[in-house]
Amino acid sequence: MREISWNELVRPGGLVSEPLGSGIFRLSESLLSADERSFFYLVHGNDRSCLIDGGWGFCADLLDRLPRETKDLVAIATHSHFDHIGHLSSAGRRFGHRDEALIFRDPNIEATQAWPYLAGRPCLADGNSIEARSVGQHPCPLTDLVDEGDEIDLGGRVLRVLHTPGHSPGSISLFDEATGTVFCGDILLEGDIYDDIPGADRNVLLKSHERLSSLSFDRLLPGHGRAMDRLAVLKRMERYREALGRKLIG
Ligand SMILES: [Zn+2]
Ligand SMILES: [Zn+2]
Repeated sequence: MREISWNELVRPGGLVSEPLGSGIFRLSESLLSADERSFFYLVHGNDRSCLIDGGWGFCADLLDRLPRETKDLVAIATHSHFDHIGHLSSAGRRFGHRDEALIFRDPNIEATQAWPYLAGRPCLADGNSIEARSVGQHPCPLTDLVDEGDEIDLGGRVLRVLHTPGHSPGSISLFDEATGTVFCGDILLEGDIYDDIPGADRNVLLKSHERLSSLSFDRLLPGHGRAMDRLAVLKRMERYREALGRKLIG
């Protein structure tokens, strides 16, 4: 296994774009192994398009690679971890929660949790790892602070902001009520949910799950792993609750 420097990985191309219908595209980066990829989303409104999260940041010509109908791009960050903020600086306006505003302004490797996560981890598709100390995310200061109940209007499409902490203090989810879609970042996914990292809080995360389950959504699009329908989401939440109960007793 080789350690590759971050700068060597930032190059044109490598963007995977999958249409999910209703003007939503799921984006990811082919340089990464399937397990390590994060998903970020492009959502079209009549007046502007919106990136929800920004991947790791390896696609040097992202704006040229987005679907043709993309216009007046803004970005919303579900949270500030290194695997979700890479391309946020491509958008002129960036929405996010105040509790992580300092990290978006200065995304150093400790604050974004690239370190120690990446150290010695074979996360690239070719089996190699990234030299963790070389990670260089662009500053992407928030231009618009958002909180629970705020609405982001893309023209004919409104994304409602829910403050859903627990994975990180400033984690937000976005509810696109018209299509019954929730974008939830890392607070719920099919695989392991990181709830023991700096800034995480399991009891708070449980409350955020309850909050999400009270919404009338049909599908959930997470920051990692497959899309889930409502039943799959409720089952995953139950599995998490049970595992947590066992941990607390054990
Ligand atoms: Zn995260
Ligand atoms: Zn993540």
